[in-house]
Amino acid sequence: MRLGLLAGAMAAVAALGSPALAEPQGKGLLSITFDDASRSQRDLGLRAAQDYGLVGTLFVATSFAEEATSEEDGWYMGWSEIRKFRDAGWEIGSHSHTHPHLTQLTDSQVVAEIDTAKAIITARTGTAPVSFAPPFGDFNERTVKRVLERHRFHVLAWGGNHGRNPMQGVDASQIGRLEVSHQVSPAKICGEIAKAARDGVWLVLMFHEFVSQTPGEYQYAIADFRRILACARRMQGQDLIRVVTVADAMKLLGKN
Ligand SMILES: [Zn+2]
Repeated sequence: MRLGLLAGAMAAVAALGSPALAEPQGKGLLSITFDDASRSQRDLGLRAAQDYGLVGTLFVATSFAEEATSEEDGWYMGWSEIRKFRDAGWEIGSHSHTHPHLTQLTDSQVVAEIDTAKAIITARTGTAPVSFAPPFGDFNERTVKRVLERHRFHVLAWGGNHGRNPMQGVDASQIGRLEVSHQVSPAKICGEIAKAARDGVWLVLMFHEFVSQTPGEYQYAIADFRRILACARRMQGQDLIRVVTVADAMKLLGKN
């Protein structure tokens, strides 16, 4: 009895400190990420996430957003639309300025891409981006170095252990993501979320365009996205996972 009370008190004290360190097992983190800032991500994706009370990280290529002058035309969102994500509690991350293959650029070109995007996001949203996802998931040692001189977190596109990141000792230079595209069923992703909860893993999902009809490559059916959100929300309600932005996940993992 006394031991039980003591254990309870110690757990309570531990919970006041780092939640990640206090409870490394049996609970997972989930991050939802959108790349490229397409209009479908606002019209369909953001609305769906809001319906389920969930947030994520939006990676913006700033030249596309700067050129998106019309509010309702074109494939890319303009800044007033991107700010709706910010206002809904999403993190706005950088996806470079012109969306090039960074490894094919000179060092000064890489720096210009990163610096320009960071300055524009800071000016347009009021907050400097801390997370960076290289276009096409294309990177090497040189580009990662430049990115991490200016951002805290370097987020991969493919690879990286299928988006299953360790909750202890996660590497800020290679945060892995699992792409969720047309051929991936919501049941499979729900299973991945359950596994992340069971294994105490930080699962990061990557989405591109949302469509209402049959999805093609780099697209996902919005009805299936809603099924994933319902699954995530249910597991969060059961205290099995927490759904957080990339930056907030790193904060929880003691890497801010
Ligand atoms: Zn992209």
